Amino acid sequence: MSAPRYRFAPSPTGYFHVGGARTALYNWLLALKNGGTFVLRIEDTDESRNQPQWTQGIIDALEWLGIHHHDSHFEGPYFQSANAAEHIAAAMRLYEQGNAYFCDQTTEQIQARAKEKGITGYDGFSRDRGLGPGEGRVLRFRVPDGKTVVHDLVRGVVEFDNSTIEDFVLLRGNGTPVFLIANVVDDVLMKISNVIRAEEHLPNAPKQQMLFEALGETVPAWAHVPVLVNEQRKKLSKRRDKVAVEQYREEGILASAMTNYLMTLGWAPSGDTEIVPWQTIIDQFRLEDVNHSPAFFDVKKLLAFNGEYIRMMSLDDFIAAAEEVFSSSAPWSPERYRPEMFRAMAPLVQTRVALVPEAIPMVDFLFLPEPPIDDDAFAKSFSAEWAVPALRDIAAEFGSCEFTAESLKSATERVGEKHQVKLGKLQAPLRVAITGRTVGPPLFEPIELLGRDETLRRIHSAINRAS
Ligand code: GLU
Repeated sequence: MSAPRYRFAPSPTGYFHVGGARTALYNWLLALKNGGTFVLRIEDTDESRNQPQWTQGIIDALEWLGIHHHDSHFEGPYFQSANAAEHIAAAMRLYEQGNAYFCDQTTEQIQARAKEKGITGYDGFSRDRGLGPGEGRVLRFRVPDGKTVVHDLVRGVVEFDNSTIEDFVLLRGNGTPVFLIANVVDDVLMKISNVIRAEEHLPNAPKQQMLFEALGETVPAWAHVPVLVNEQRKKLSKRRDKVAVEQYREEGILASAMTNYLMTLGWAPSGDTEIVPWQTIIDQFRLEDVNHSPAFFDVKKLLAFNGEYIRMMSLDDFIAAAEEVFSSSAPWSPERYRPEMFRAMAPLVQTRVALVPEAIPMVDFLFLPEPPIDDDAFAKSFSAEWAVPALRDIAAEFGSCEFTAESLKSATERVGEKHQVKLGKLQAPLRVAITGRTVGPPLFEPIELLGRDETLRRIHSAINRAS
């Protein structure tokens, strides 16, 4: 048997849908696993929606997901629009063979007759009228009697009664080919052996199978993968849900977390963890094991995966990733940044973030001239009567104790005993005074980094503000 040829055939729409990313990954990983080829075909026949930069967007998104266009398993991109002449020629061959016929009926005429007969869709009115080509005439496929049986690797055997399928259009009234024939002819031209695509195309499969057969071509192995749904079990939609891969990427989702997470939708690796290296997925994945039911695209779970992947990074890689984010989005001016301070804080941050950009509010107070104090948080943390007197005592202790995280903590505990306030509670006004926030990483390490003078200055400034 010759090496399998898979394809990913997106229509450029301006952004890259997470569902498309999953389909692309299935095709890619099977091409790698089975020594086959991944063909990228841009289905760009809808000229009104087509823009060259969108194709680049697809290539960039694939590249980010690890589907490298320079890899020997990758072929393309091909453009569907370049094959229009072949699509038309194949449709005309079907006409000459008697598998297709021209029809001059307008939508209004078709609807009026359907209403009269109490049917839906086109009734085959022109089947035997012997019309030739002509302006405004569409070419329709003559759907044969009987059944069409689609063997689908995910869904099993799916039977379609041909009587439920109308004589569908192959060429429009202006002579341009429609998706169904363009897609089949391209699969023939590109020698595609396996079609893996979204479940929404399942109703197209029997029609396309009939076209392959009428053209005397081998039907590819089908696999229609279940749709992705949101928390309300509704199909992910760009109006309701965050679906663009680019957006997740911008927000700090790592490619490794995204690819691993997408692969766990409707499938799971063996063992007790879903977080596994890509190679394990390649070794274990089988389309036959993909679940039939819609898969919930759970953003919270994706974030949890991302957190795990962040924790698997080496400290140096984490620092590099964080510094890249800082270079574009940090609120402090670059000359105030102290790499050695961040390096000291990085292990505390790395264990606490789900997205790398979340590092910013955990360390910004170290590099900003003043802590970014939130008024409400401040008022709340200083509402207790003990807050100001306790902070005065803390300032006194911090003024004389050894300035290490450990001693600072013991000093704070001593103040807590005096005021009969637990350390956790006592830390709240101290944390706001130093960091401006009510939550954050452990407090005494960054206080040590900040140094005695700046720490005392911040505590006194908070006391003044509160009194
Ligand atoms: N261009 C189609 C889409 O983006 C895919 C068609 C196919 O995979 O056969 O939905």
